[in-house]
Amino acid sequence: MSGNHHDHLHTHDDHAPVGATEPRPEYARLERAVRELLIAKGVITADDVRKQIELMDSRTPAMGAKIVARAWVDPAFKTRLLKDAKAAAEEMGVDTSNSATVVALENTPARHHVVVCTLCSCYPKAILGVPPAWYKSSAYRARTVKEPRKVLAEFGTFLPEGVEIRVVDSTADMRYLVVPMRPAGTEGWNEDRLAALVGRDSMIGTALATTPA
Ligand code: FE
Repeated sequence: MSGNHHDHLHTHDDHAPVGATEPRPEYARLERAVRELLIAKGVITADDVRKQIELMDSRTPAMGAKIVARAWVDPAFKTRLLKDAKAAAEEMGVDTSNSATVVALENTPARHHVVVCTLCSCYPKAILGVPPAWYKSSAYRARTVKEPRKVLAEFGTFLPEGVEIRVVDSTADMRYLVVPMRPAGTEGWNEDRLAALVGRDSMIGTALATTPA
Protein backbone atom coordinates (compact mmCIF):
# COMPACT_ATOMS: atom_id res chain seq x y z
CA MET A 1 0.00 0.00 0.00
CA SER A 2 1.55 3.25 -1.05
CA GLY A 3 0.38 6.79 -1.12
CA ASN A 4 -0.02 9.33 1.56
CA HIS A 5 -2.93 8.68 3.88
CA HIS A 6 -2.70 12.13 5.27
CA ASP A 7 -3.46 13.68 1.89
CA HIS A 8 -6.61 11.66 1.57
CA LEU A 9 -8.03 13.19 4.74
CA HIS A 10 -8.02 16.60 3.12
CA THR A 11 -10.53 17.97 0.73
CA HIS A 12 -9.86 20.85 -1.61
CA ASP A 13 -12.05 22.91 0.74
CA ASP A 14 -9.13 23.04 3.15
CA HIS A 15 -7.57 25.63 0.91
CA ALA A 16 -10.66 27.56 -0.12
CA PRO A 17 -11.01 31.19 1.01
CA VAL A 18 -12.54 31.48 4.47
CA GLY A 19 -15.46 33.46 3.12
CA ALA A 20 -16.57 30.62 0.86
CA THR A 21 -19.93 29.20 1.86
CA GLU A 22 -21.48 25.96 0.76
CA PRO A 23 -25.16 25.71 0.12
CA ARG A 24 -26.22 22.22 1.13
CA PRO A 25 -29.64 21.63 -0.45
CA GLU A 26 -29.72 18.04 0.85
CA TYR A 27 -29.82 19.33 4.43
CA ALA A 28 -32.62 21.74 3.59
CA ARG A 29 -34.60 18.85 2.10
CA LEU A 30 -33.87 16.66 5.12
CA GLU A 31 -34.96 19.41 7.52
CA ARG A 32 -38.21 19.92 5.65
CA ALA A 33 -38.97 16.19 5.53
CA VAL A 34 -38.36 15.74 9.28
CA ARG A 35 -40.29 18.89 10.17
CA GLU A 36 -43.29 17.89 8.05
CA LEU A 37 -43.31 14.40 9.59
CA LEU A 38 -43.13 15.75 13.16
CA ILE A 39 -46.01 18.09 12.43
CA ALA A 40 -48.06 15.37 10.67
CA LYS A 41 -47.56 13.04 13.65
CA GLY A 42 -48.55 15.76 16.12
CA VAL A 43 -45.17 15.87 17.90
CA ILE A 44 -44.82 19.60 17.23
CA THR A 45 -46.94 22.21 15.52
CA ALA A 46 -46.03 24.63 12.76
CA ASP A 47 -46.58 27.37 15.35
CA ASP A 48 -43.92 25.79 17.63
CA VAL A 49 -41.46 25.93 14.76
CA ARG A 50 -42.33 29.54 13.97
CA LYS A 51 -41.96 30.61 17.62
CA GLN A 52 -38.59 28.88 17.91
CA ILE A 53 -37.35 30.63 14.78
CA GLU A 54 -38.57 33.96 16.16
CA LEU A 55 -36.73 33.29 19.42
CA MET A 56 -33.53 32.45 17.55
CA ASP A 57 -33.83 35.56 15.40
CA SER A 58 -34.37 37.73 18.50
CA ARG A 59 -30.93 36.76 19.80
CA THR A 60 -28.17 38.94 18.43
CA PRO A 61 -24.51 39.68 19.18
CA ALA A 62 -25.72 42.85 20.96
CA MET A 63 -26.32 40.67 24.01
CA GLY A 64 -22.74 39.41 24.00
CA ALA A 65 -21.49 42.97 23.51
CA LYS A 66 -23.35 44.10 26.64
CA ILE A 67 -21.81 41.24 28.60
CA VAL A 68 -18.29 42.12 27.40
CA ALA A 69 -18.79 45.82 28.17
CA ARG A 70 -19.96 44.93 31.68
CA ALA A 71 -16.89 42.76 32.16
CA TRP A 72 -14.67 45.67 31.06
CA VAL A 73 -16.07 48.06 33.68
CA ASP A 74 -16.86 45.65 36.51
CA PRO A 75 -13.98 43.41 37.65
CA ALA A 76 -16.21 41.38 39.97
CA PHE A 77 -18.58 40.65 37.08
CA LYS A 78 -15.62 39.70 34.89
CA THR A 79 -14.47 37.23 37.53
CA ARG A 80 -17.96 35.68 37.62
CA LEU A 81 -18.11 35.62 33.80
CA LEU A 82 -14.79 33.79 33.51
CA LYS A 83 -15.86 31.34 36.20
CA ASP A 84 -19.36 30.59 34.89
CA ALA A 85 -20.39 32.41 31.72
CA LYS A 86 -23.93 31.01 31.68
CA ALA A 87 -24.64 32.28 35.19
CA ALA A 88 -23.15 35.68 34.31
CA ALA A 89 -25.28 35.84 31.15
CA GLU A 90 -28.36 35.00 33.24
CA GLU A 91 -27.48 37.99 35.44
CA MET A 92 -27.68 40.12 32.31
CA GLY A 93 -31.11 38.75 31.46
CA VAL A 94 -30.16 36.04 28.95
CA ASP A 95 -32.21 32.86 29.13
CA THR A 96 -29.58 30.12 28.93
CA SER A 97 -31.81 27.28 30.12
CA ASN A 98 -31.55 25.44 26.81
CA SER A 99 -27.93 26.31 26.26
CA ALA A 100 -24.86 24.12 26.54
CA THR A 101 -22.06 25.13 28.88
CA VAL A 102 -20.51 28.42 27.83
CA VAL A 103 -16.92 29.25 28.69
CA ALA A 104 -15.70 32.84 28.46
CA LEU A 105 -12.07 33.25 27.38
CA GLU A 106 -10.29 36.51 28.04
CA ASN A 107 -7.90 37.88 25.44
CA THR A 108 -4.78 39.52 26.85
CA PRO A 109 -1.74 41.24 25.35
CA ALA A 110 -0.03 37.81 25.47
CA ARG A 111 -2.82 35.48 24.35
CA HIS A 112 -5.54 35.68 21.71
CA HIS A 113 -8.36 33.14 21.48
CA VAL A 114 -10.14 32.11 18.28
CA VAL A 115 -13.20 29.88 18.33
CA VAL A 116 -13.97 27.26 15.73
CA CYS A 117 -16.16 24.20 15.58
CA THR A 118 -14.16 21.69 13.57
CA LEU A 119 -17.02 19.18 13.46
CA CYS A 120 -19.95 21.38 12.53
CA SER A 121 -20.98 24.83 13.73
CA CYS A 122 -21.43 24.79 17.53
CA TYR A 123 -21.82 28.37 18.73
CA PRO A 124 -23.11 30.16 21.86
CA LYS A 125 -26.45 31.01 20.21
CA ALA A 126 -28.13 32.14 23.43
CA ILE A 127 -25.58 34.94 23.69
CA LEU A 128 -24.54 35.67 20.09
CA GLY A 129 -27.51 34.57 18.03
CA VAL A 130 -27.11 32.65 14.78
CA PRO A 131 -23.51 32.08 13.60
CA PRO A 132 -22.28 33.78 10.43
CA ALA A 133 -22.17 31.65 7.27
CA TRP A 134 -18.37 31.61 7.18
CA TYR A 135 -18.25 30.06 10.65
CA LYS A 136 -19.99 27.02 9.19
CA SER A 137 -17.79 26.81 6.09
CA SER A 138 -15.45 23.84 5.89
CA ALA A 139 -12.65 26.23 4.91
CA TYR A 140 -12.89 28.11 8.20
CA ARG A 141 -13.31 24.91 10.19
CA ALA A 142 -10.33 23.18 8.59
CA ARG A 143 -7.93 26.07 8.14
CA THR A 144 -8.32 27.86 11.48
CA VAL A 145 -6.72 25.01 13.40
CA LYS A 146 -3.89 24.66 10.88
CA GLU A 147 -2.98 28.25 10.09
CA PRO A 148 -4.81 30.57 12.51
CA ARG A 149 -2.54 33.53 11.92
CA LYS A 150 -3.14 33.38 8.18
CA VAL A 151 -6.90 33.03 8.64
CA LEU A 152 -6.94 36.00 11.04
CA ALA A 153 -5.00 38.05 8.48
CA GLU A 154 -7.71 37.27 5.91
CA PHE A 155 -10.19 38.81 8.36
CA GLY A 156 -7.93 41.87 8.54
CA THR A 157 -6.75 40.96 12.01
CA PHE A 158 -2.99 41.21 12.46
CA LEU A 159 -1.52 40.26 15.81
CA PRO A 160 2.03 41.01 16.93
CA GLU A 161 4.42 38.06 16.46
CA GLY A 162 4.79 37.41 20.17
CA VAL A 163 1.08 36.93 20.79
CA GLU A 164 0.10 33.31 21.35
CA ILE A 165 -2.97 32.34 19.33
CA ARG A 166 -5.02 29.70 21.06
CA VAL A 167 -7.64 28.01 18.86
CA VAL A 168 -10.50 26.48 20.83
CA ASP A 169 -12.80 23.86 19.37
CA SER A 170 -16.50 24.17 20.24
CA THR A 171 -18.53 21.06 20.83
CA ALA A 172 -22.17 20.25 21.35
CA ASP A 173 -21.59 20.45 25.13
CA MET A 174 -19.16 23.34 25.34
CA ARG A 175 -19.36 26.71 23.60
CA TYR A 176 -17.00 29.66 23.86
CA LEU A 177 -17.36 33.42 24.18
CA VAL A 178 -14.21 35.43 23.58
CA VAL A 179 -13.82 38.53 25.74
CA PRO A 180 -11.78 40.86 23.53
CA MET A 181 -9.33 43.35 25.00
CA ARG A 182 -10.74 46.73 25.88
CA PRO A 183 -9.42 49.25 23.35
CA ALA A 184 -7.14 52.06 24.48
CA GLY A 185 -8.70 55.51 24.62
CA THR A 186 -11.95 54.33 26.23
CA GLU A 187 -11.14 55.30 29.82
CA GLY A 188 -14.24 56.52 31.60
CA TRP A 189 -16.65 55.33 28.89
CA ASN A 190 -20.00 53.93 30.04
CA GLU A 191 -21.19 50.43 29.19
CA ASP A 192 -23.46 51.45 26.30
CA ARG A 193 -20.66 53.31 24.58
CA LEU A 194 -18.25 50.46 25.16
CA ALA A 195 -20.72 47.83 23.93
CA ALA A 196 -20.87 49.62 20.56
CA LEU A 197 -17.17 48.74 20.10
CA VAL A 198 -17.77 45.01 20.56
CA GLY A 199 -18.59 43.42 17.23
CA ARG A 200 -19.71 39.83 16.73
CA ASP A 201 -16.39 38.73 15.26
CA SER A 202 -14.45 40.08 18.24
CA MET A 203 -16.39 37.61 20.41
CA ILE A 204 -15.46 34.75 18.03
CA GLY A 205 -11.88 35.96 17.99
CA THR A 206 -11.53 36.68 14.28
CA ALA A 207 -11.49 40.41 15.01
CA LEU A 208 -10.53 42.81 17.78
CA ALA A 209 -12.86 45.22 19.49
CA THR A 210 -13.08 48.49 17.56
CA THR A 211 -10.60 51.14 18.58
CA PRO A 212 -12.29 54.54 18.72
CA ALA A 213 -11.08 56.98 16.07
FE1 FE B 1 -20.56 22.08 15.95
